[in-house]
Amino acid sequence: MTAALEAAEVGYRVILVEKEAYLGGRVVRMYQYFPKMCPPTCGFEVNTRRIRRNPRITVHTLATVDAISGSAGSFKAKIKIKPRYVTGEHSLDDSMTEGLTSERTNDFNYGMDKTKALYLPHDMAYPPVYVLDREALSDADAKKISEVCPPGAVDLDMKEEEIEVEVGAVIVATGWRPYDAAKLDNLGFGRCQNVITNVMMERLAARGGPTGGEIVRPSDGKKAANVAFVQCAGSRDEKHLPYCSAVCCMGSLKQARYVREKNEEAKVTIFYIDIRTVGRLEKFYYEMLEDTNVSCVKGKVGKITEDPETKDLILDVEDTLSADKLHRGFDMVVLATGIVPNTADVKIPFDLSYDEYGFIDGSTNIEGIYAAGCAKRPCDVSRSTKDSTAAALKAIQCLNNRK
Ligand SMILES: Cc1cc2nc3c(=O)[nH]c(=O)nc-3n(C[C@H](O)[C@H](O)[C@H](O)COP(=O)(O)OP(=O)(O)OC[C@H]3O[C@@H](n4cnc5c(N)ncnc54)[C@H](O)[C@@H]3O)c2cc1C
Repeated sequence: MTAALEAAEVGYRVILVEKEAYLGGRVVRMYQYFPKMCPPTCGFEVNTRRIRRNPRITVHTLATVDAISGSAGSFKAKIKIKPRYVTGEHSLDDSMTEGLTSERTNDFNYGMDKTKALYLPHDMAYPPVYVLDREALSDADAKKISEVCPPGAVDLDMKEEEIEVEVGAVIVATGWRPYDAAKLDNLGFGRCQNVITNVMMERLAARGGPTGGEIVRPSDGKKAANVAFVQCAGSRDEKHLPYCSAVCCMGSLKQARYVREKNEEAKVTIFYIDIRTVGRLEKFYYEMLEDTNVSCVKGKVGKITEDPETKDLILDVEDTLSADKLHRGFDMVVLATGIVPNTADVKIPFDLSYDEYGFIDGSTNIEGIYAAGCAKRPCDVSRSTKDSTAAALKAIQCLNNRK
């Protein structure tokens, strides 16, 4: 969004291609973001307003780029657009979906709840248009939709489209996905009900999340009162992600604050290998250490087990500073899983080079194609947006050099 706005606001035409049904990436799924602890919706709203007002930006959601050919100054790109089944010509609201029984897993909330098959991805979704999950929709609900929604609002026969566009430069800002916590056998995700991941914690804390913003245990809905954070869950580990994801320490410190703000009795323990809060973020870390209900223990968690009755969790870990072998109980555990580039799985359809983990190798500098944000390396929002501004400038220079 940043790169698109930067280029469009100095007069260039931009096509923004987003594979989800809404803009905003992973950031719009956060409760608050560090260091200022403001909700992402603030900046997001400003950006969507700028996009709405700028006729030079065309947004395609549910869209991916399937082929890119040509060279700097004259690329051709094929964009595949999946059907939304909602035309956007009439506004819909929840009263029209109330009577539907077909549901789908809510991927926006990382699978922790369900939505109706006809749904708005989230409260602040841009574009503010419902989406229909055609596969989840029963025949009976298809009939109800035709009775309840305004004629022409839903088109059950909408087809996938492919369009071809000519562009002078391409910016790749395909971002990241969380490392799959189910691969960390010893840490119990999927086996122990009250072990969740850091991205799930963002949705638990958010008002639009599955619990309306209450940080509660998935097993019994009780307020989490004694929470452990396991840092480097899979990160800096040759068997999983050998690199540091750069944001997880700050992510957990931030989430420790969520827990403390929502329950003043709650205790938090952060198990870490090293705390990495670079630059001015160090201040945030020291402020958290002043809270006597927050403690940090240097040690890599070896094993998590669940009490079959209470669903409480036992962590086995060696405190490397005291050499004590700890065996401690918690009522909820958050795994700080790292950042995997989306390009580790789905490559950009052009001959780009990637590092061994699938991040786009920024040093190769193919003229006319520029990467930004977590597509290049794990980083925070501030770095991603600066990067995007830089990528937009590179793209503009590429076009200007050809005038
Ligand atoms: C637990 C956790 C908490 C965090 N909290 C903070 C925080 O508080 N503050 C902070 O500064 N940073 C935080 N971060 C980091 C932050 O999430 C990233 O800096 C940010 O998401 C990077 O933005 P991005 O645009 O590069 O990628 P993304 O946010 O991943 O956006 C990429 C976009 O590209 C789309 N896309 C992907 N592939 C395709 C494709 N093939 N075609 C079309 N579209 C595609 C995606 O759907 C998405 O919309 C946190 C990270 C974690 C793990």
